[in-house]
Amino acid sequence: MEKFDAVIVGAGTAGLSAGIALKRSRKNYVILDRKGEIGLPVRSTGAVSLMWVDRIGMPRDPKIVSSEISGISFRTDSGKDVSLQYDRPVGLVYDFTKYEKFLADEMEGALNYRLKTSVNFVEGSVVHTSDGDIEADHIIYAAGPQSAFGRKLGKSEALVAYEETRELPPRKDFQMVLWFSDLVPGGYVWDFAESPTTRKVGVCYYPLKASQPKAVLDEFTRRFPEVDGKMQHTMAHQIPLTEPAATVVNGKSYYTGDMVNAVLNTTAGGLQGAFWSGYSAGIAAAKNDPSYYQKKWDEEIRPWLMKHHRLHGRMHRKGVRSVEKLMTLSKLMPMSIKKRVFGGL
Ligand SMILES: Cc1cc2nc3c(=O)[nH]c(=O)nc-3n(C[C@H](O)[C@H](O)[C@H](O)COP(=O)(O)OP(=O)(O)OC[C@H]3O[C@@H](n4cnc5c(N)ncnc54)[C@H](O)[C@@H]3O)c2cc1C
Repeated sequence: MEKFDAVIVGAGTAGLSAGIALKRSRKNYVILDRKGEIGLPVRSTGAVSLMWVDRIGMPRDPKIVSSEISGISFRTDSGKDVSLQYDRPVGLVYDFTKYEKFLADEMEGALNYRLKTSVNFVEGSVVHTSDGDIEADHIIYAAGPQSAFGRKLGKSEALVAYEETRELPPRKDFQMVLWFSDLVPGGYVWDFAESPTTRKVGVCYYPLKASQPKAVLDEFTRRFPEVDGKMQHTMAHQIPLTEPAATVVNGKSYYTGDMVNAVLNTTAGGLQGAFWSGYSAGIAAAKNDPSYYQKKWDEEIRPWLMKHHRLHGRMHRKGVRSVEKLMTLSKLMPMSIKKRVFGGL
């Protein structure tokens, strides 16, 4: 049987960043994924905060960036807003297929990954895959939301998310606009810059009612024709939006990314949490010290996620009225603080 220091289940952001950490430590590892191509199907809009990109070491090579964000506007569909223009980019939108390929093949040279390989189940240190059995000292789970290896999330614990890339010129005001609305409980509608001729327009919300995401986006588009444009591609998936897990290590098994709800509940952004948790789990496996990852999670990653989790609870307790109240309060903040707070999300 083949034997590795570590097997990683999943080649999304969390799994690839774990691979980068293991490769940097010259460990013998393999990343397994059932999909046929890195980056496909696209699972993310790809928007991230530059402050966090730099702080946790995510890549920012210009060739994987489709647009930069220096103007952001948070709005409600009844007309309240917090809108900020910066004199420099505070965020970027990755070109998602290029971004994941960059993690897999360029950031640290080519990682050792195998595609079209499903992990069926794990028994002790033996990983049973569609392509035979593999033994590993450490197993890093990075299999995304609602995978067979994670806890099943309820309707008020995961957002449904649906996005259309639409033919639209760049907005003249902001590169990133988020609307809060009772049409999208717990989530929002977004309009992000992509290319000179396209923008990404999508919805995410707790599926508490029966409405289909496409119908919700269509209804929003009827109300706000400024986001109407010919559809080029669509993308749909789920985003866990609930309290981050308390325990992320079990023996020499490590749980990362969406599997442990490493998603910022306020923005539904999970790329940063996936990268940070995956990379930290990779370091822990390389050091043969699982407690390193749990400590990093307890002391840095989880408190950061919990701040967003609590704020999200306040924002959505009474639907869009709670968001409006927070927006009114934020008008009292000095502009410099407001810019720092929102620019650092
Ligand atoms: C529509 C949408 C828009 C989003 N926009 C943003 C955004 O703008 N910014 C942001 O920060 N976040 C965004 N997110 C969230 C972000 O994309 C996710 O949080 C992040 O991609 C999670 O990464 P991950 O590595 O944990 O999981 P994933 O990227 O889901 O990777 C999991 C991988 O595991 C593989 N896998 C699963 N089970 C098995 C198995 N049994 N065997 C082998 N392989 C397996 C899957 O094929 C998959 O490749 C968005 C999400 C959605 C759905």
